[in-house]
Amino acid sequence: MIAVVGGGIIGLSIAWELRRRGADVVVYDPAPDGTGGAWHVAAGMLAPGGESAFEVPALHALLAVSNDLWQRFAAALGPVGYDEAGTLGVALTADDVAEMAREWRHQGLAPLTGSQLRSREPALSPRVRAGAYAATERQVDPRRVVAALRASLSGDIVPESVVDLEKVDADRIVVAAGCGTAALTGLPIRPVKGQVLRLRGEAGLLRHVIGGSADGRHVYLVPRADGEVVVGATQEERGDDRPTAGGVHELLRAALDLVPGLADHELAEVTVGHRPGTPDNAPILGFLDDDRRIAVAAGHHRNGVLLAPITARLIADLVLTGSADPLIDDFTPGRFACV
Ligand SMILES: Cc1cc2nc3c(=O)[nH]c(=O)nc-3n(C[C@H](O)[C@H](O)[C@H](O)COP(=O)(O)OP(=O)(O)OC[C@H]3O[C@@H](n4cnc5c(N)ncnc54)[C@H](O)[C@@H]3O)c2cc1C
Repeated sequence: MIAVVGGGIIGLSIAWELRRRGADVVVYDPAPDGTGGAWHVAAGMLAPGGESAFEVPALHALLAVSNDLWQRFAAALGPVGYDEAGTLGVALTADDVAEMAREWRHQGLAPLTGSQLRSREPALSPRVRAGAYAATERQVDPRRVVAALRASLSGDIVPESVVDLEKVDADRIVVAAGCGTAALTGLPIRPVKGQVLRLRGEAGLLRHVIGGSADGRHVYLVPRADGEVVVGATQEERGDDRPTAGGVHELLRAALDLVPGLADHELAEVTVGHRPGTPDNAPILGFLDDDRRIAVAAGHHRNGVLLAPITARLIADLVLTGSADPLIDDFTPGRFACV
């Protein structure tokens, strides 16, 4: 029996993969409706070329491999809002262009003028000056992904919090409890607060994910097929769960600067989540103990949705066979001196 501690997007993906390979699995998570994790707030961008790829080069490979696994993963789960329309990076002012162009160059994206952008996405403001098209970026709806995973594992989810790993009755344990992993393992995982808005209106205003900068305010807009547009996100080094007037104001201002037509949408949700961040902002994947009984899959920070399929594959390999792809080598718990 393998016990997975944490039924967020990482824990459930691992449990699903273990089950697919014939293992006996039980998942522990105290949130009865499963809304306790960062996934419930996350936009679901699958953006392997984002800023984190600059920070840790090894992470870039992991993000790219996982991005390639998503199409098949989504197909196996059913309708989960997986969409390949791509992302339009956009910049409003000359300063925004100067800042964003660095990232676009790094990703090897060709620059587009404002009118080229508007011919792809007519709802963009006439003030948008420049941008780029990232064809390999995708999106998925994390709430639908988790619902599909929970449905496939429903009989094996125990609605309990684990407070002591020693008391878990299982041959192997996988700790995938997001920010809750720190208290269970002592690993250095911190909450990075993010505020996110959900707007609802007529479907079809936007086709692509829009990500960019408006007067120095970073924002992304993730349109769903049903007319929902997810607007995110603040990034704050704190663990409280209060939405703030300032956070909401900044997000709305940037969103409406880029896409004025969103002004008519309903402000349907304001949510706060916590990205599980590590000192190098890369995930922690591997065995925690010399006995190889307890594995960890946590600290996915800004990319836990994107990294779910590769994490599930690597951790299932590790737990079932004792070995894994060398891709995992740069992410072991041992890289942090305090372990
Ligand atoms: C604002 C915001 C926007 C984001 N946008 C994106 C995005 O666009 N793309 C992307 O790839 N990623 C995004 N992320 C990151 C992504 O949501 C996280 O990296 C991902 O959710 C981490 O998955 P997880 O399962 O490790 O943790 P979580 O999703 O946080 O789930 C952890 C689970 O563990 C459970 N748990 C905690 N403690 C215990 C315990 N002691 N016992 C049992 N269960 C426990 C919790 O109840 C919870 O269900 C975003 C995050 C935020 C906050």
